[in-house]
Amino acid sequence: MRKNIVAGNWKMNKTLQEGIALAKELNEVLANERPNCDVIICTPFIHLASVTPLVDSAKIGVGAENCADKESGAYTGEVSAAMVASTGAKYVILGHSERRAYYHETPEILKEKVRLALANGLTPIFCVGEVLEEREAGKQNEVVYGQLAGSLFDLSAEDFSRLIIAYEPVWAIGTGKTATAAQAQEIHAYIRSVIAEKYGKDVADNTSILYGGSCKASNARELFANPDVDGGLIGGASLKAADFKGIIDAFN
Ligand code: PEP
Repeated sequence: MRKNIVAGNWKMNKTLQEGIALAKELNEVLANERPNCDVIICTPFIHLASVTPLVDSAKIGVGAENCADKESGAYTGEVSAAMVASTGAKYVILGHSERRAYYHETPEILKEKVRLALANGLTPIFCVGEVLEEREAGKQNEVVYGQLAGSLFDLSAEDFSRLIIAYEPVWAIGTGKTATAAQAQEIHAYIRSVIAEKYGKDVADNTSILYGGSCKASNARELFANPDVDGGLIGGASLKAADFKGIIDAFN
């Protein structure tokens, strides 16, 4: 059966020293705990090689926030999936709305990133979600369907089973506005139905679908209580160990 997961997305925050301190603190906070979910921290590239050996890998998985859509070569400034994997990281966020909007990542580019991530043994945390105007026009299902089909539906069922999906309404990211538990459940159930239609019920039932968008300790329990919400992708509230732990505790 699918896993419950709480994953942090540090975005472009924390110097190397600050990131090491946060990872150490989180590791200590969880040392005597048995979280009822998988815990993942996704950090800037430069933190990965330092952070992975610092944390107890049985309790905390480490991931990148992006990877290149090319295997290797003359792509100045890019970081490949193989490089990410060589740090010991196991996950990579792909398709985050900030990457789609600010760095013009198209479904085709994301398809390639997913392929390379999987080929290098990484688990993609693939993000989908609509902007406010699309939600107001009632087009959220259509948008999310297009994002899933556009980048993922060429995958075999076996490869698709290796993904984590994150539904992140863009209007809720970093805004303090959270989707209601009912809105989250409705679209998560839709996403699961789309996966079932394409890959069958078993694959759909085993796919973890996380909610992201101003999730915090005070609303996590209500969101995660929904049958199709399998945890969260957490931005702002992953930057302090105590806040992040408060969200992990929503599964206790
Ligand atoms: C995110 O960017 O993935 C996110 C969910 O951010 P926040 O929790 O800050 O809204």
